[in-house]
Amino acid sequence: MIDLAIRNGWVIDGTMKERFRADLGVVGGKIIEIGRVSAAEREIDAEGLIVSPGFVDPHSHSDFTLHSNRDSHSTIRQGVTTEVVGNCGFSNAPVTDQSVISTVARMRAYAYDGPVDWRTFGEYLESLETGGISANVACFVGHNSVRAAAGLIGGEQVTDTHLKKMAGFVAEAMESGALGLSTGLEFTPGLFCQTNELEYLVKEVGRHNGIYTSHVRNRDSAIFESIQEFLDLAKAGNVAAQISHFNVRHDTNAPEDAWNRAVEMMMKARVQGMDVEADTTPFRTGIGVMTAILPEWLVNDGYEEVARALKNNLVRDRLRNECDRYWRFIHKGQWDRVRLSSSPSFPELGGLTFPEIAKIMKKDEWDCYFDILMAAGSAMDELILVGELFTEEHLAEMTSHPEFSLGVDGYTSVDHGPLSDVTVSQHPYCGHIEYLAHHVREMKTLTLENAIHKMTAKPAARFGLTRRGVLQKGNFADLVIFDAANVRSRSTIDEPRVYPEGIRLVVVNGVVVVDDGIHTGKRPGQVLRRVS
Ligand SMILES: [Zn+2]
Repeated sequence: MIDLAIRNGWVIDGTMKERFRADLGVVGGKIIEIGRVSAAEREIDAEGLIVSPGFVDPHSHSDFTLHSNRDSHSTIRQGVTTEVVGNCGFSNAPVTDQSVISTVARMRAYAYDGPVDWRTFGEYLESLETGGISANVACFVGHNSVRAAAGLIGGEQVTDTHLKKMAGFVAEAMESGALGLSTGLEFTPGLFCQTNELEYLVKEVGRHNGIYTSHVRNRDSAIFESIQEFLDLAKAGNVAAQISHFNVRHDTNAPEDAWNRAVEMMMKARVQGMDVEADTTPFRTGIGVMTAILPEWLVNDGYEEVARALKNNLVRDRLRNECDRYWRFIHKGQWDRVRLSSSPSFPELGGLTFPEIAKIMKKDEWDCYFDILMAAGSAMDELILVGELFTEEHLAEMTSHPEFSLGVDGYTSVDHGPLSDVTVSQHPYCGHIEYLAHHVREMKTLTLENAIHKMTAKPAARFGLTRRGVLQKGNFADLVIFDAANVRSRSTIDEPRVYPEGIRLVVVNGVVVVDDGIHTGKRPGQVLRRVS
């Protein structure tokens, strides 16, 4: 008898092929049949429902929260069976004496109170496996983390010794199964690096047949130079490359038609034979880093120094004019576009906009912003914002572009307890649902078959996740069964921490993890290591 039979469902297999009715059989973690399936230990009636490959998030930060949420509660309930993490230059390894404080600070900021007892990337991956995980995870090593581990915090001189050290960290990560290197060049300490440093490291990635993925330096006034730098690096390293959340934020001084012209650069590189793709996010809002608007001269000496400087009103006065970086609409005074996700020092302000915060704190928005940063001290880098970043039209052009995978750029969370309290935003709870309910069903921007392709087979192929992302005999049984007409988010801006409805069953490596909306507590997830 086989393990699991899913009967009478509409199969959307991930290849963009139109849906077809078939039964699907699972044995020992693999799909053994699609078509006629014999009797099974567990029989599931999927009459009227979609049977799809489990969703693969091409750009996630769930490594921030996995140690405090090994069950991946909020994302697995949306049908996400694999998350690609370690993005935007941030990973939890390598860790050295120079970087252990910042790594621990991040883990603590996301409610993990256990030991941070890994140093190498390999040890980190093992620590994920040892405690068990519900979903699969594949990891990039982050350039910011590599830099911090090499003892670089700002714009100091990068020596040959630094370069060799960093390349050594990258090599160790690659040999341990990292997918490749990610950069986050709007964030510290990555923003201080010169292109030659990146070239040195991307070449190391190339030697291991890895991938380069980048949150590029700039997506407004210097977007073309940034994309050019990215393409030059991918070429120099002879690597496959992914442009992370390739978008242009609304009203931030980008040139006319910037997104289309920048995407044209990517498409031209593809014609010339480069293996480059991109991904997007689902919401008009996005998650951001609070410190990233601060000018380089201020963050150059580390965040303890920033906290000290913020006590000085003369510094504050200067900053009111000079925080023109990253979310540049803040500099323009568009505070209604900015919400604080959470702050350990001001828990009552979580989820509020800055005009709302200003009313409560009885100060102007800038002083509130500086007070919140200052109170976090050296951990201010962990403070997260939620901003209104995109227009609906821009979302439509990104989600429908054939070379864009569909991700969320969030992290998995849970609807109660300490982690829940510090992730007050819709991103963990309904990002993937937004594609199915909003972009496919309401806006009709793309067909369900196309959306599922961009949420499964496309990112799986992109990141070399073999035998995943497509429903086919012999592939791993990562599956989601859902009601396409009724799948919807119940998460709202005022009450974001609510799971969606319409996701019936989620299976990871042949094991049922979500059964009629209920998490079974099973942890069949695997760390997916790069195979070259
Ligand atoms: Zn990013």
